[in-house]
Order: sequence, then C-alpha cells, then structure tokens
Amino acid sequence: MRILLCNDDGIYAPGLTALAKELCCFGQVTVVAPDAERSAASNSLTLAHPLRVREVSFPAPVEKAFAISGTPADCAKMGLSTLLDEKPDLVVSGINCGPNMCVDIFYSGTVAAAFEGAFRGIRSVSVSLDTYSSKEDFSTAARWALRCIRLLVEKNVEPARVYNINVPCIPDSEIKGIKLTRTGKIDYREEYDHRRDPYGRSYYWIKGSPEIVDSSAECDIVAVKAGYVSVTPLQPDLTDFASLNSLAEHFAKA
Ligand code: MN
Repeated sequence: MRILLCNDDGIYAPGLTALAKELCCFGQVTVVAPDAERSAASNSLTLAHPLRVREVSFPAPVEKAFAISGTPADCAKMGLSTLLDEKPDLVVSGINCGPNMCVDIFYSGTVAAAFEGAFRGIRSVSVSLDTYSSKEDFSTAARWALRCIRLLVEKNVEPARVYNINVPCIPDSEIKGIKLTRTGKIDYREEYDHRRDPYGRSYYWIKGSPEIVDSSAECDIVAVKAGYVSVTPLQPDLTDFASLNSLAEHFAKA
C-alpha cells in the first residue's frame, strides 16, 4: 500500500506526525506538506510564485518527507505528479487541528488536499480532530482514523471519493464508535473583530461561532458532539441532479 500524506497545518504539525506514525504500520508513506500553516486555503493553487521543494527529516519511519512553499492542493498535486515514483493507492490528509464538518469543508485545506486524490480516481481520506488546541493528543484520533481507513480499503469502497473523518477530542474510552454521516448544517454568527495596530491604523480579524441548525443524528457535527467518530463520503461532482431535472423544462426553449 503506497500512501501520500498531506495536511494544511504544515510539515511540523503534531497531527501530521501522529497520523504518519499510524499509517507507517499500514503502508509506505510519503509526506508532502506545506512549509508553514495554510489552513482555510481550500483548493487554491500557487500560480504567481515558484514552488520550492525541500526534503526534510521526519519524526516517523516514512519513505520520504517534503516541505513545499505552497498550499495543501499544491502539495497533493506535486506529490501525485512529480515527487512520488508511482501513483499511490491512497491519499490521506491530516490530522487537522480543528474540525472539518458542515460548510467548513468548502474552506478546508485538509479536505482540499484529499480531493486532489479523488479528482485523480484515488481513494482519499481527510482526518480532523475536534479541537483548536495543537497541544491535545492526536494519537487516539490517529488510531481511530487507521481503523476507518483499514475498513475502507478492506471493503474496497468506491475510489474517486473523499472519506471525511472527524474525531471527537475526548479520551479513547469515551469514544462510542464510528458513525457514517452526512454533512450537517450550521449557521455562523460571523463577525470581524475591529482592532488597531500600534500605529493607530485599523484592521479586522474574522471570528465566529457556529450554531447547529440541523440536529439530526445522521449529521457529522451532531455525531461528533455525541462522542462518535464521523465518516462522511464526499464526491467531487457538485452537480445538483434534482435541479438538473427540474430545470430542464425551463431551459428547453431557451
Ligand atoms: Mn488546518
């Protein structure tokens, strides 16, 4: 099993190391990660600057590890097209420090890197931990992620998909199990904090707290808050097939 491992928190993120250590029991891992944190980069690409690639030593028995002066999508693309000798069997991204559920998956660099694998027909997995503290223990989440990944591979599930895993940040003994979910619905009470720099100029910083709008048990965020590891299958095709059918008559004579 050849595995490409990426993330968006950067090459030195503890979640990346924890996941690499687990994945090394499962296959040959090559790490390609941004040289600094690039969270919320989505699928953005670096076009106006060159990409610098640096092979680095890594605190897990991986084949190779590369730090790239680009985005998570740059990393996955470079890994798949240039840095790996062969096409991997699996693309994995994470473990992100912070959940990637509901509408947040659109902004996530973690999920985006996994989508680069799915775009190429490779089975891909994104993993996130439901905490914003990088000092938390990522090893429990890494073990649960590997349990999910083993199952996905053994059952030979549909490739060209992203299996988006979110793990609650609670002790292992309190995790209730794995739940298959759909993306949930939250409302952000979004605000921009207005501040002043030392020179008196104003600046803004986004902040916001999500409010759960759909509390159905099958939603990712509801499952994680209830203590389950959430697995949501995502597909690259965003076409709304129901609308495609209902719109057909309106456009028939257009
Ligand atoms: Mn991140």
